[in-house]
Amino acid sequence: MATSAFRAGDPPTSADAGAAHDYALDACFLGPYGENDTLLEKLVVEFLRDHVYWRRNFHPEDPPPIATAAARQPDYLDFEARMRRELHQLSAALKKSVPFHSPRYLGHMVSDLLLPGLAAQMLTLPYNPNNVSEDAAPVTVDLEVQVGLQLARMLGYPHDPREPACAFGHLTSGGTVANYQALRLALALKAFPVALRAAGVGELDLPPDDWSAFNLPREATIALLQRWQDWLAAQPAARRADWQARVEAQRVEQLGLHGFFAAHPQLREPCVLAPVTAHYSWSKGVKLLGLGRDQLELLPTRGMRLDAGALEDALQRHARERRPVLLAVAVLGGTEYGTVDPVDALLAARARSRGRGLDFCVHVDAAWGGYLATLFRAEDGSLRTRAEVGDGFARFPAPEVHAAFAALADTDSVTVDPHKLGYLPYGAGAFICRDHRAMALLAERADYVFHSDAPPDYLARYRSLGQFIPEGSKSGASAAAVYVTHKVLPLDHRHFGRLPRATVRAAEAFQARALQFAGEQAGQVRLIVPFAPDSNLVCVALNPCGNRSLAAANAFVGALHDSLRCDPQQPLQLKEFFGSVTSLRFDLLGAADAARILDALGLDTGAAEEDRLVILRHTLMNPYLIDTQNGISYIAGYFEFLARQIQALLARRAPAAA
Ligand SMILES: *Cc1c(COP(=O)(O)O)cnc(C)c1O
Repeated sequence: MATSAFRAGDPPTSADAGAAHDYALDACFLGPYGENDTLLEKLVVEFLRDHVYWRRNFHPEDPPPIATAAARQPDYLDFEARMRRELHQLSAALKKSVPFHSPRYLGHMVSDLLLPGLAAQMLTLPYNPNNVSEDAAPVTVDLEVQVGLQLARMLGYPHDPREPACAFGHLTSGGTVANYQALRLALALKAFPVALRAAGVGELDLPPDDWSAFNLPREATIALLQRWQDWLAAQPAARRADWQARVEAQRVEQLGLHGFFAAHPQLREPCVLAPVTAHYSWSKGVKLLGLGRDQLELLPTRGMRLDAGALEDALQRHARERRPVLLAVAVLGGTEYGTVDPVDALLAARARSRGRGLDFCVHVDAAWGGYLATLFRAEDGSLRTRAEVGDGFARFPAPEVHAAFAALADTDSVTVDPHKLGYLPYGAGAFICRDHRAMALLAERADYVFHSDAPPDYLARYRSLGQFIPEGSKSGASAAAVYVTHKVLPLDHRHFGRLPRATVRAAEAFQARALQFAGEQAGQVRLIVPFAPDSNLVCVALNPCGNRSLAAANAFVGALHDSLRCDPQQPLQLKEFFGSVTSLRFDLLGAADAARILDALGLDTGAAEEDRLVILRHTLMNPYLIDTQNGISYIAGYFEFLARQIQALLARRAPAAA
């Protein structure tokens, strides 16, 4: 039977000892114990009543069509009984859910939900706004556009809608769709100058050939789009419609990829560059766009960070071979290791590549790490120095990590997931592009492409959100949740930043404890942290001492994981901790990293029996991992648990080995 062996008296280890209790975090969540239950209950009841008053006040003279006091008819009672029965069954079944709220949960990228977001979402649900357009969501569409500006500020993008080059962001169902939006926008931007040339719009000072048109830098394309709109507006009305039709007929959005590239034999289909650590949403994205997986070129990494040298080589090769590049992706907080790609180096490589005539959009996939940017942002919106950010951490941020976050401001677009490190309910990803004027090229209605003055003001333009986003109908309640959370916890280091601060500190404590644990386990297992974490994901690789077989090591870690994974067949309380696993594929890892890791674990490097190493992966998101109130470290507890599991597994192995 599972017990909390460490609870009796396992004070935080020296690694955790520096942590002081942050009272500001106490009201943020419902809490591991449901500590803030009355607060949430009061909010829910208060705003449910508020909603009912709103219904009644619409036309109080309309009598209630449903009798409110009379004895209920049998059909009513029958319906109510059936509803209650089903709801009770659902509620009972949901008790098997994964306890994301608990500091014993170190598995995937999810934790407790922020109260302001949860309450705002519950409050908004009965109004059921649809953020496809202002007709269906007069309030929450504006909130969504504001969320885009809040996130733009966090990233260092221009965020004043009175500025012509202001950023624009919107919510999506998740990071997957946001990444897809980045691909759509990059294609629209690159193909538009080619369409203008093909339509024969001669008076606009267009690039001399298709290759240079497809490689026009983003800023130049946006300037060209504006020149075209102004030029068109100056044409006599009769010719205007004619020109519109001619340009529309040449756009990739009209012709499709096949038709477009068939019409421009000088251009080959473009590729998308991303590190091998890229999330599989990129594979989905290139398939959805119709480019196909062959056009997704995965670049090698070093220590799970994009290898800038390999990127430079690829760009030089593509320039030589005249292979267009649509988009290059940097990952800010990798899904498996939380590592941060050198965004600054990617931008520098693009600057050099522009000199060779090869240009592309730069997108940062910060679905996981996006909210870490709050640590880098001062209250006045300025960037904090590395020394300022590092105050209170052992190592964070590495100089490269600080440089990557500082460089965000110069990228073209970013994906951020409020439903990951934003601690908000699922269904909330976000796409943010640096210059909103590019969005006109995605609009379903041609007006936006053909009139610079089509809805004049920023907010008015984006109230027809459905014009620009991949989705149609979508939840306004989700936008309300994100907006209210960002208002309660502004996206700077003093407010929202408290959350990532707690988790990065927990990750540092976890790593320190893992290394100490490696010493304690000497003679039993060899244990390493294969990649120094850049943020708050820490992986641990281990192998029983004396074992040289990769297959046996993987089986060992697999058996450890069995005690850490969700198992609906067992009572939840039998689980002491939740963790996850990932595998290091040697073909993606690169020879040097693979040899280093296998050697440190004492595994045979030559044997090709398996193509991957299975390792434990820990997401340290819960703000209460180090419970200063009760003097409990769940991190220390986790390693005690791991020690017991390792002991039991080794004991089971021993007779067989003897
Ligand atoms: C989670 C994740 C995604 C996908 O986001 P969803 O919200 O699951 O669609 C994309 N990229 C990275 C780096 C991620 O961590």
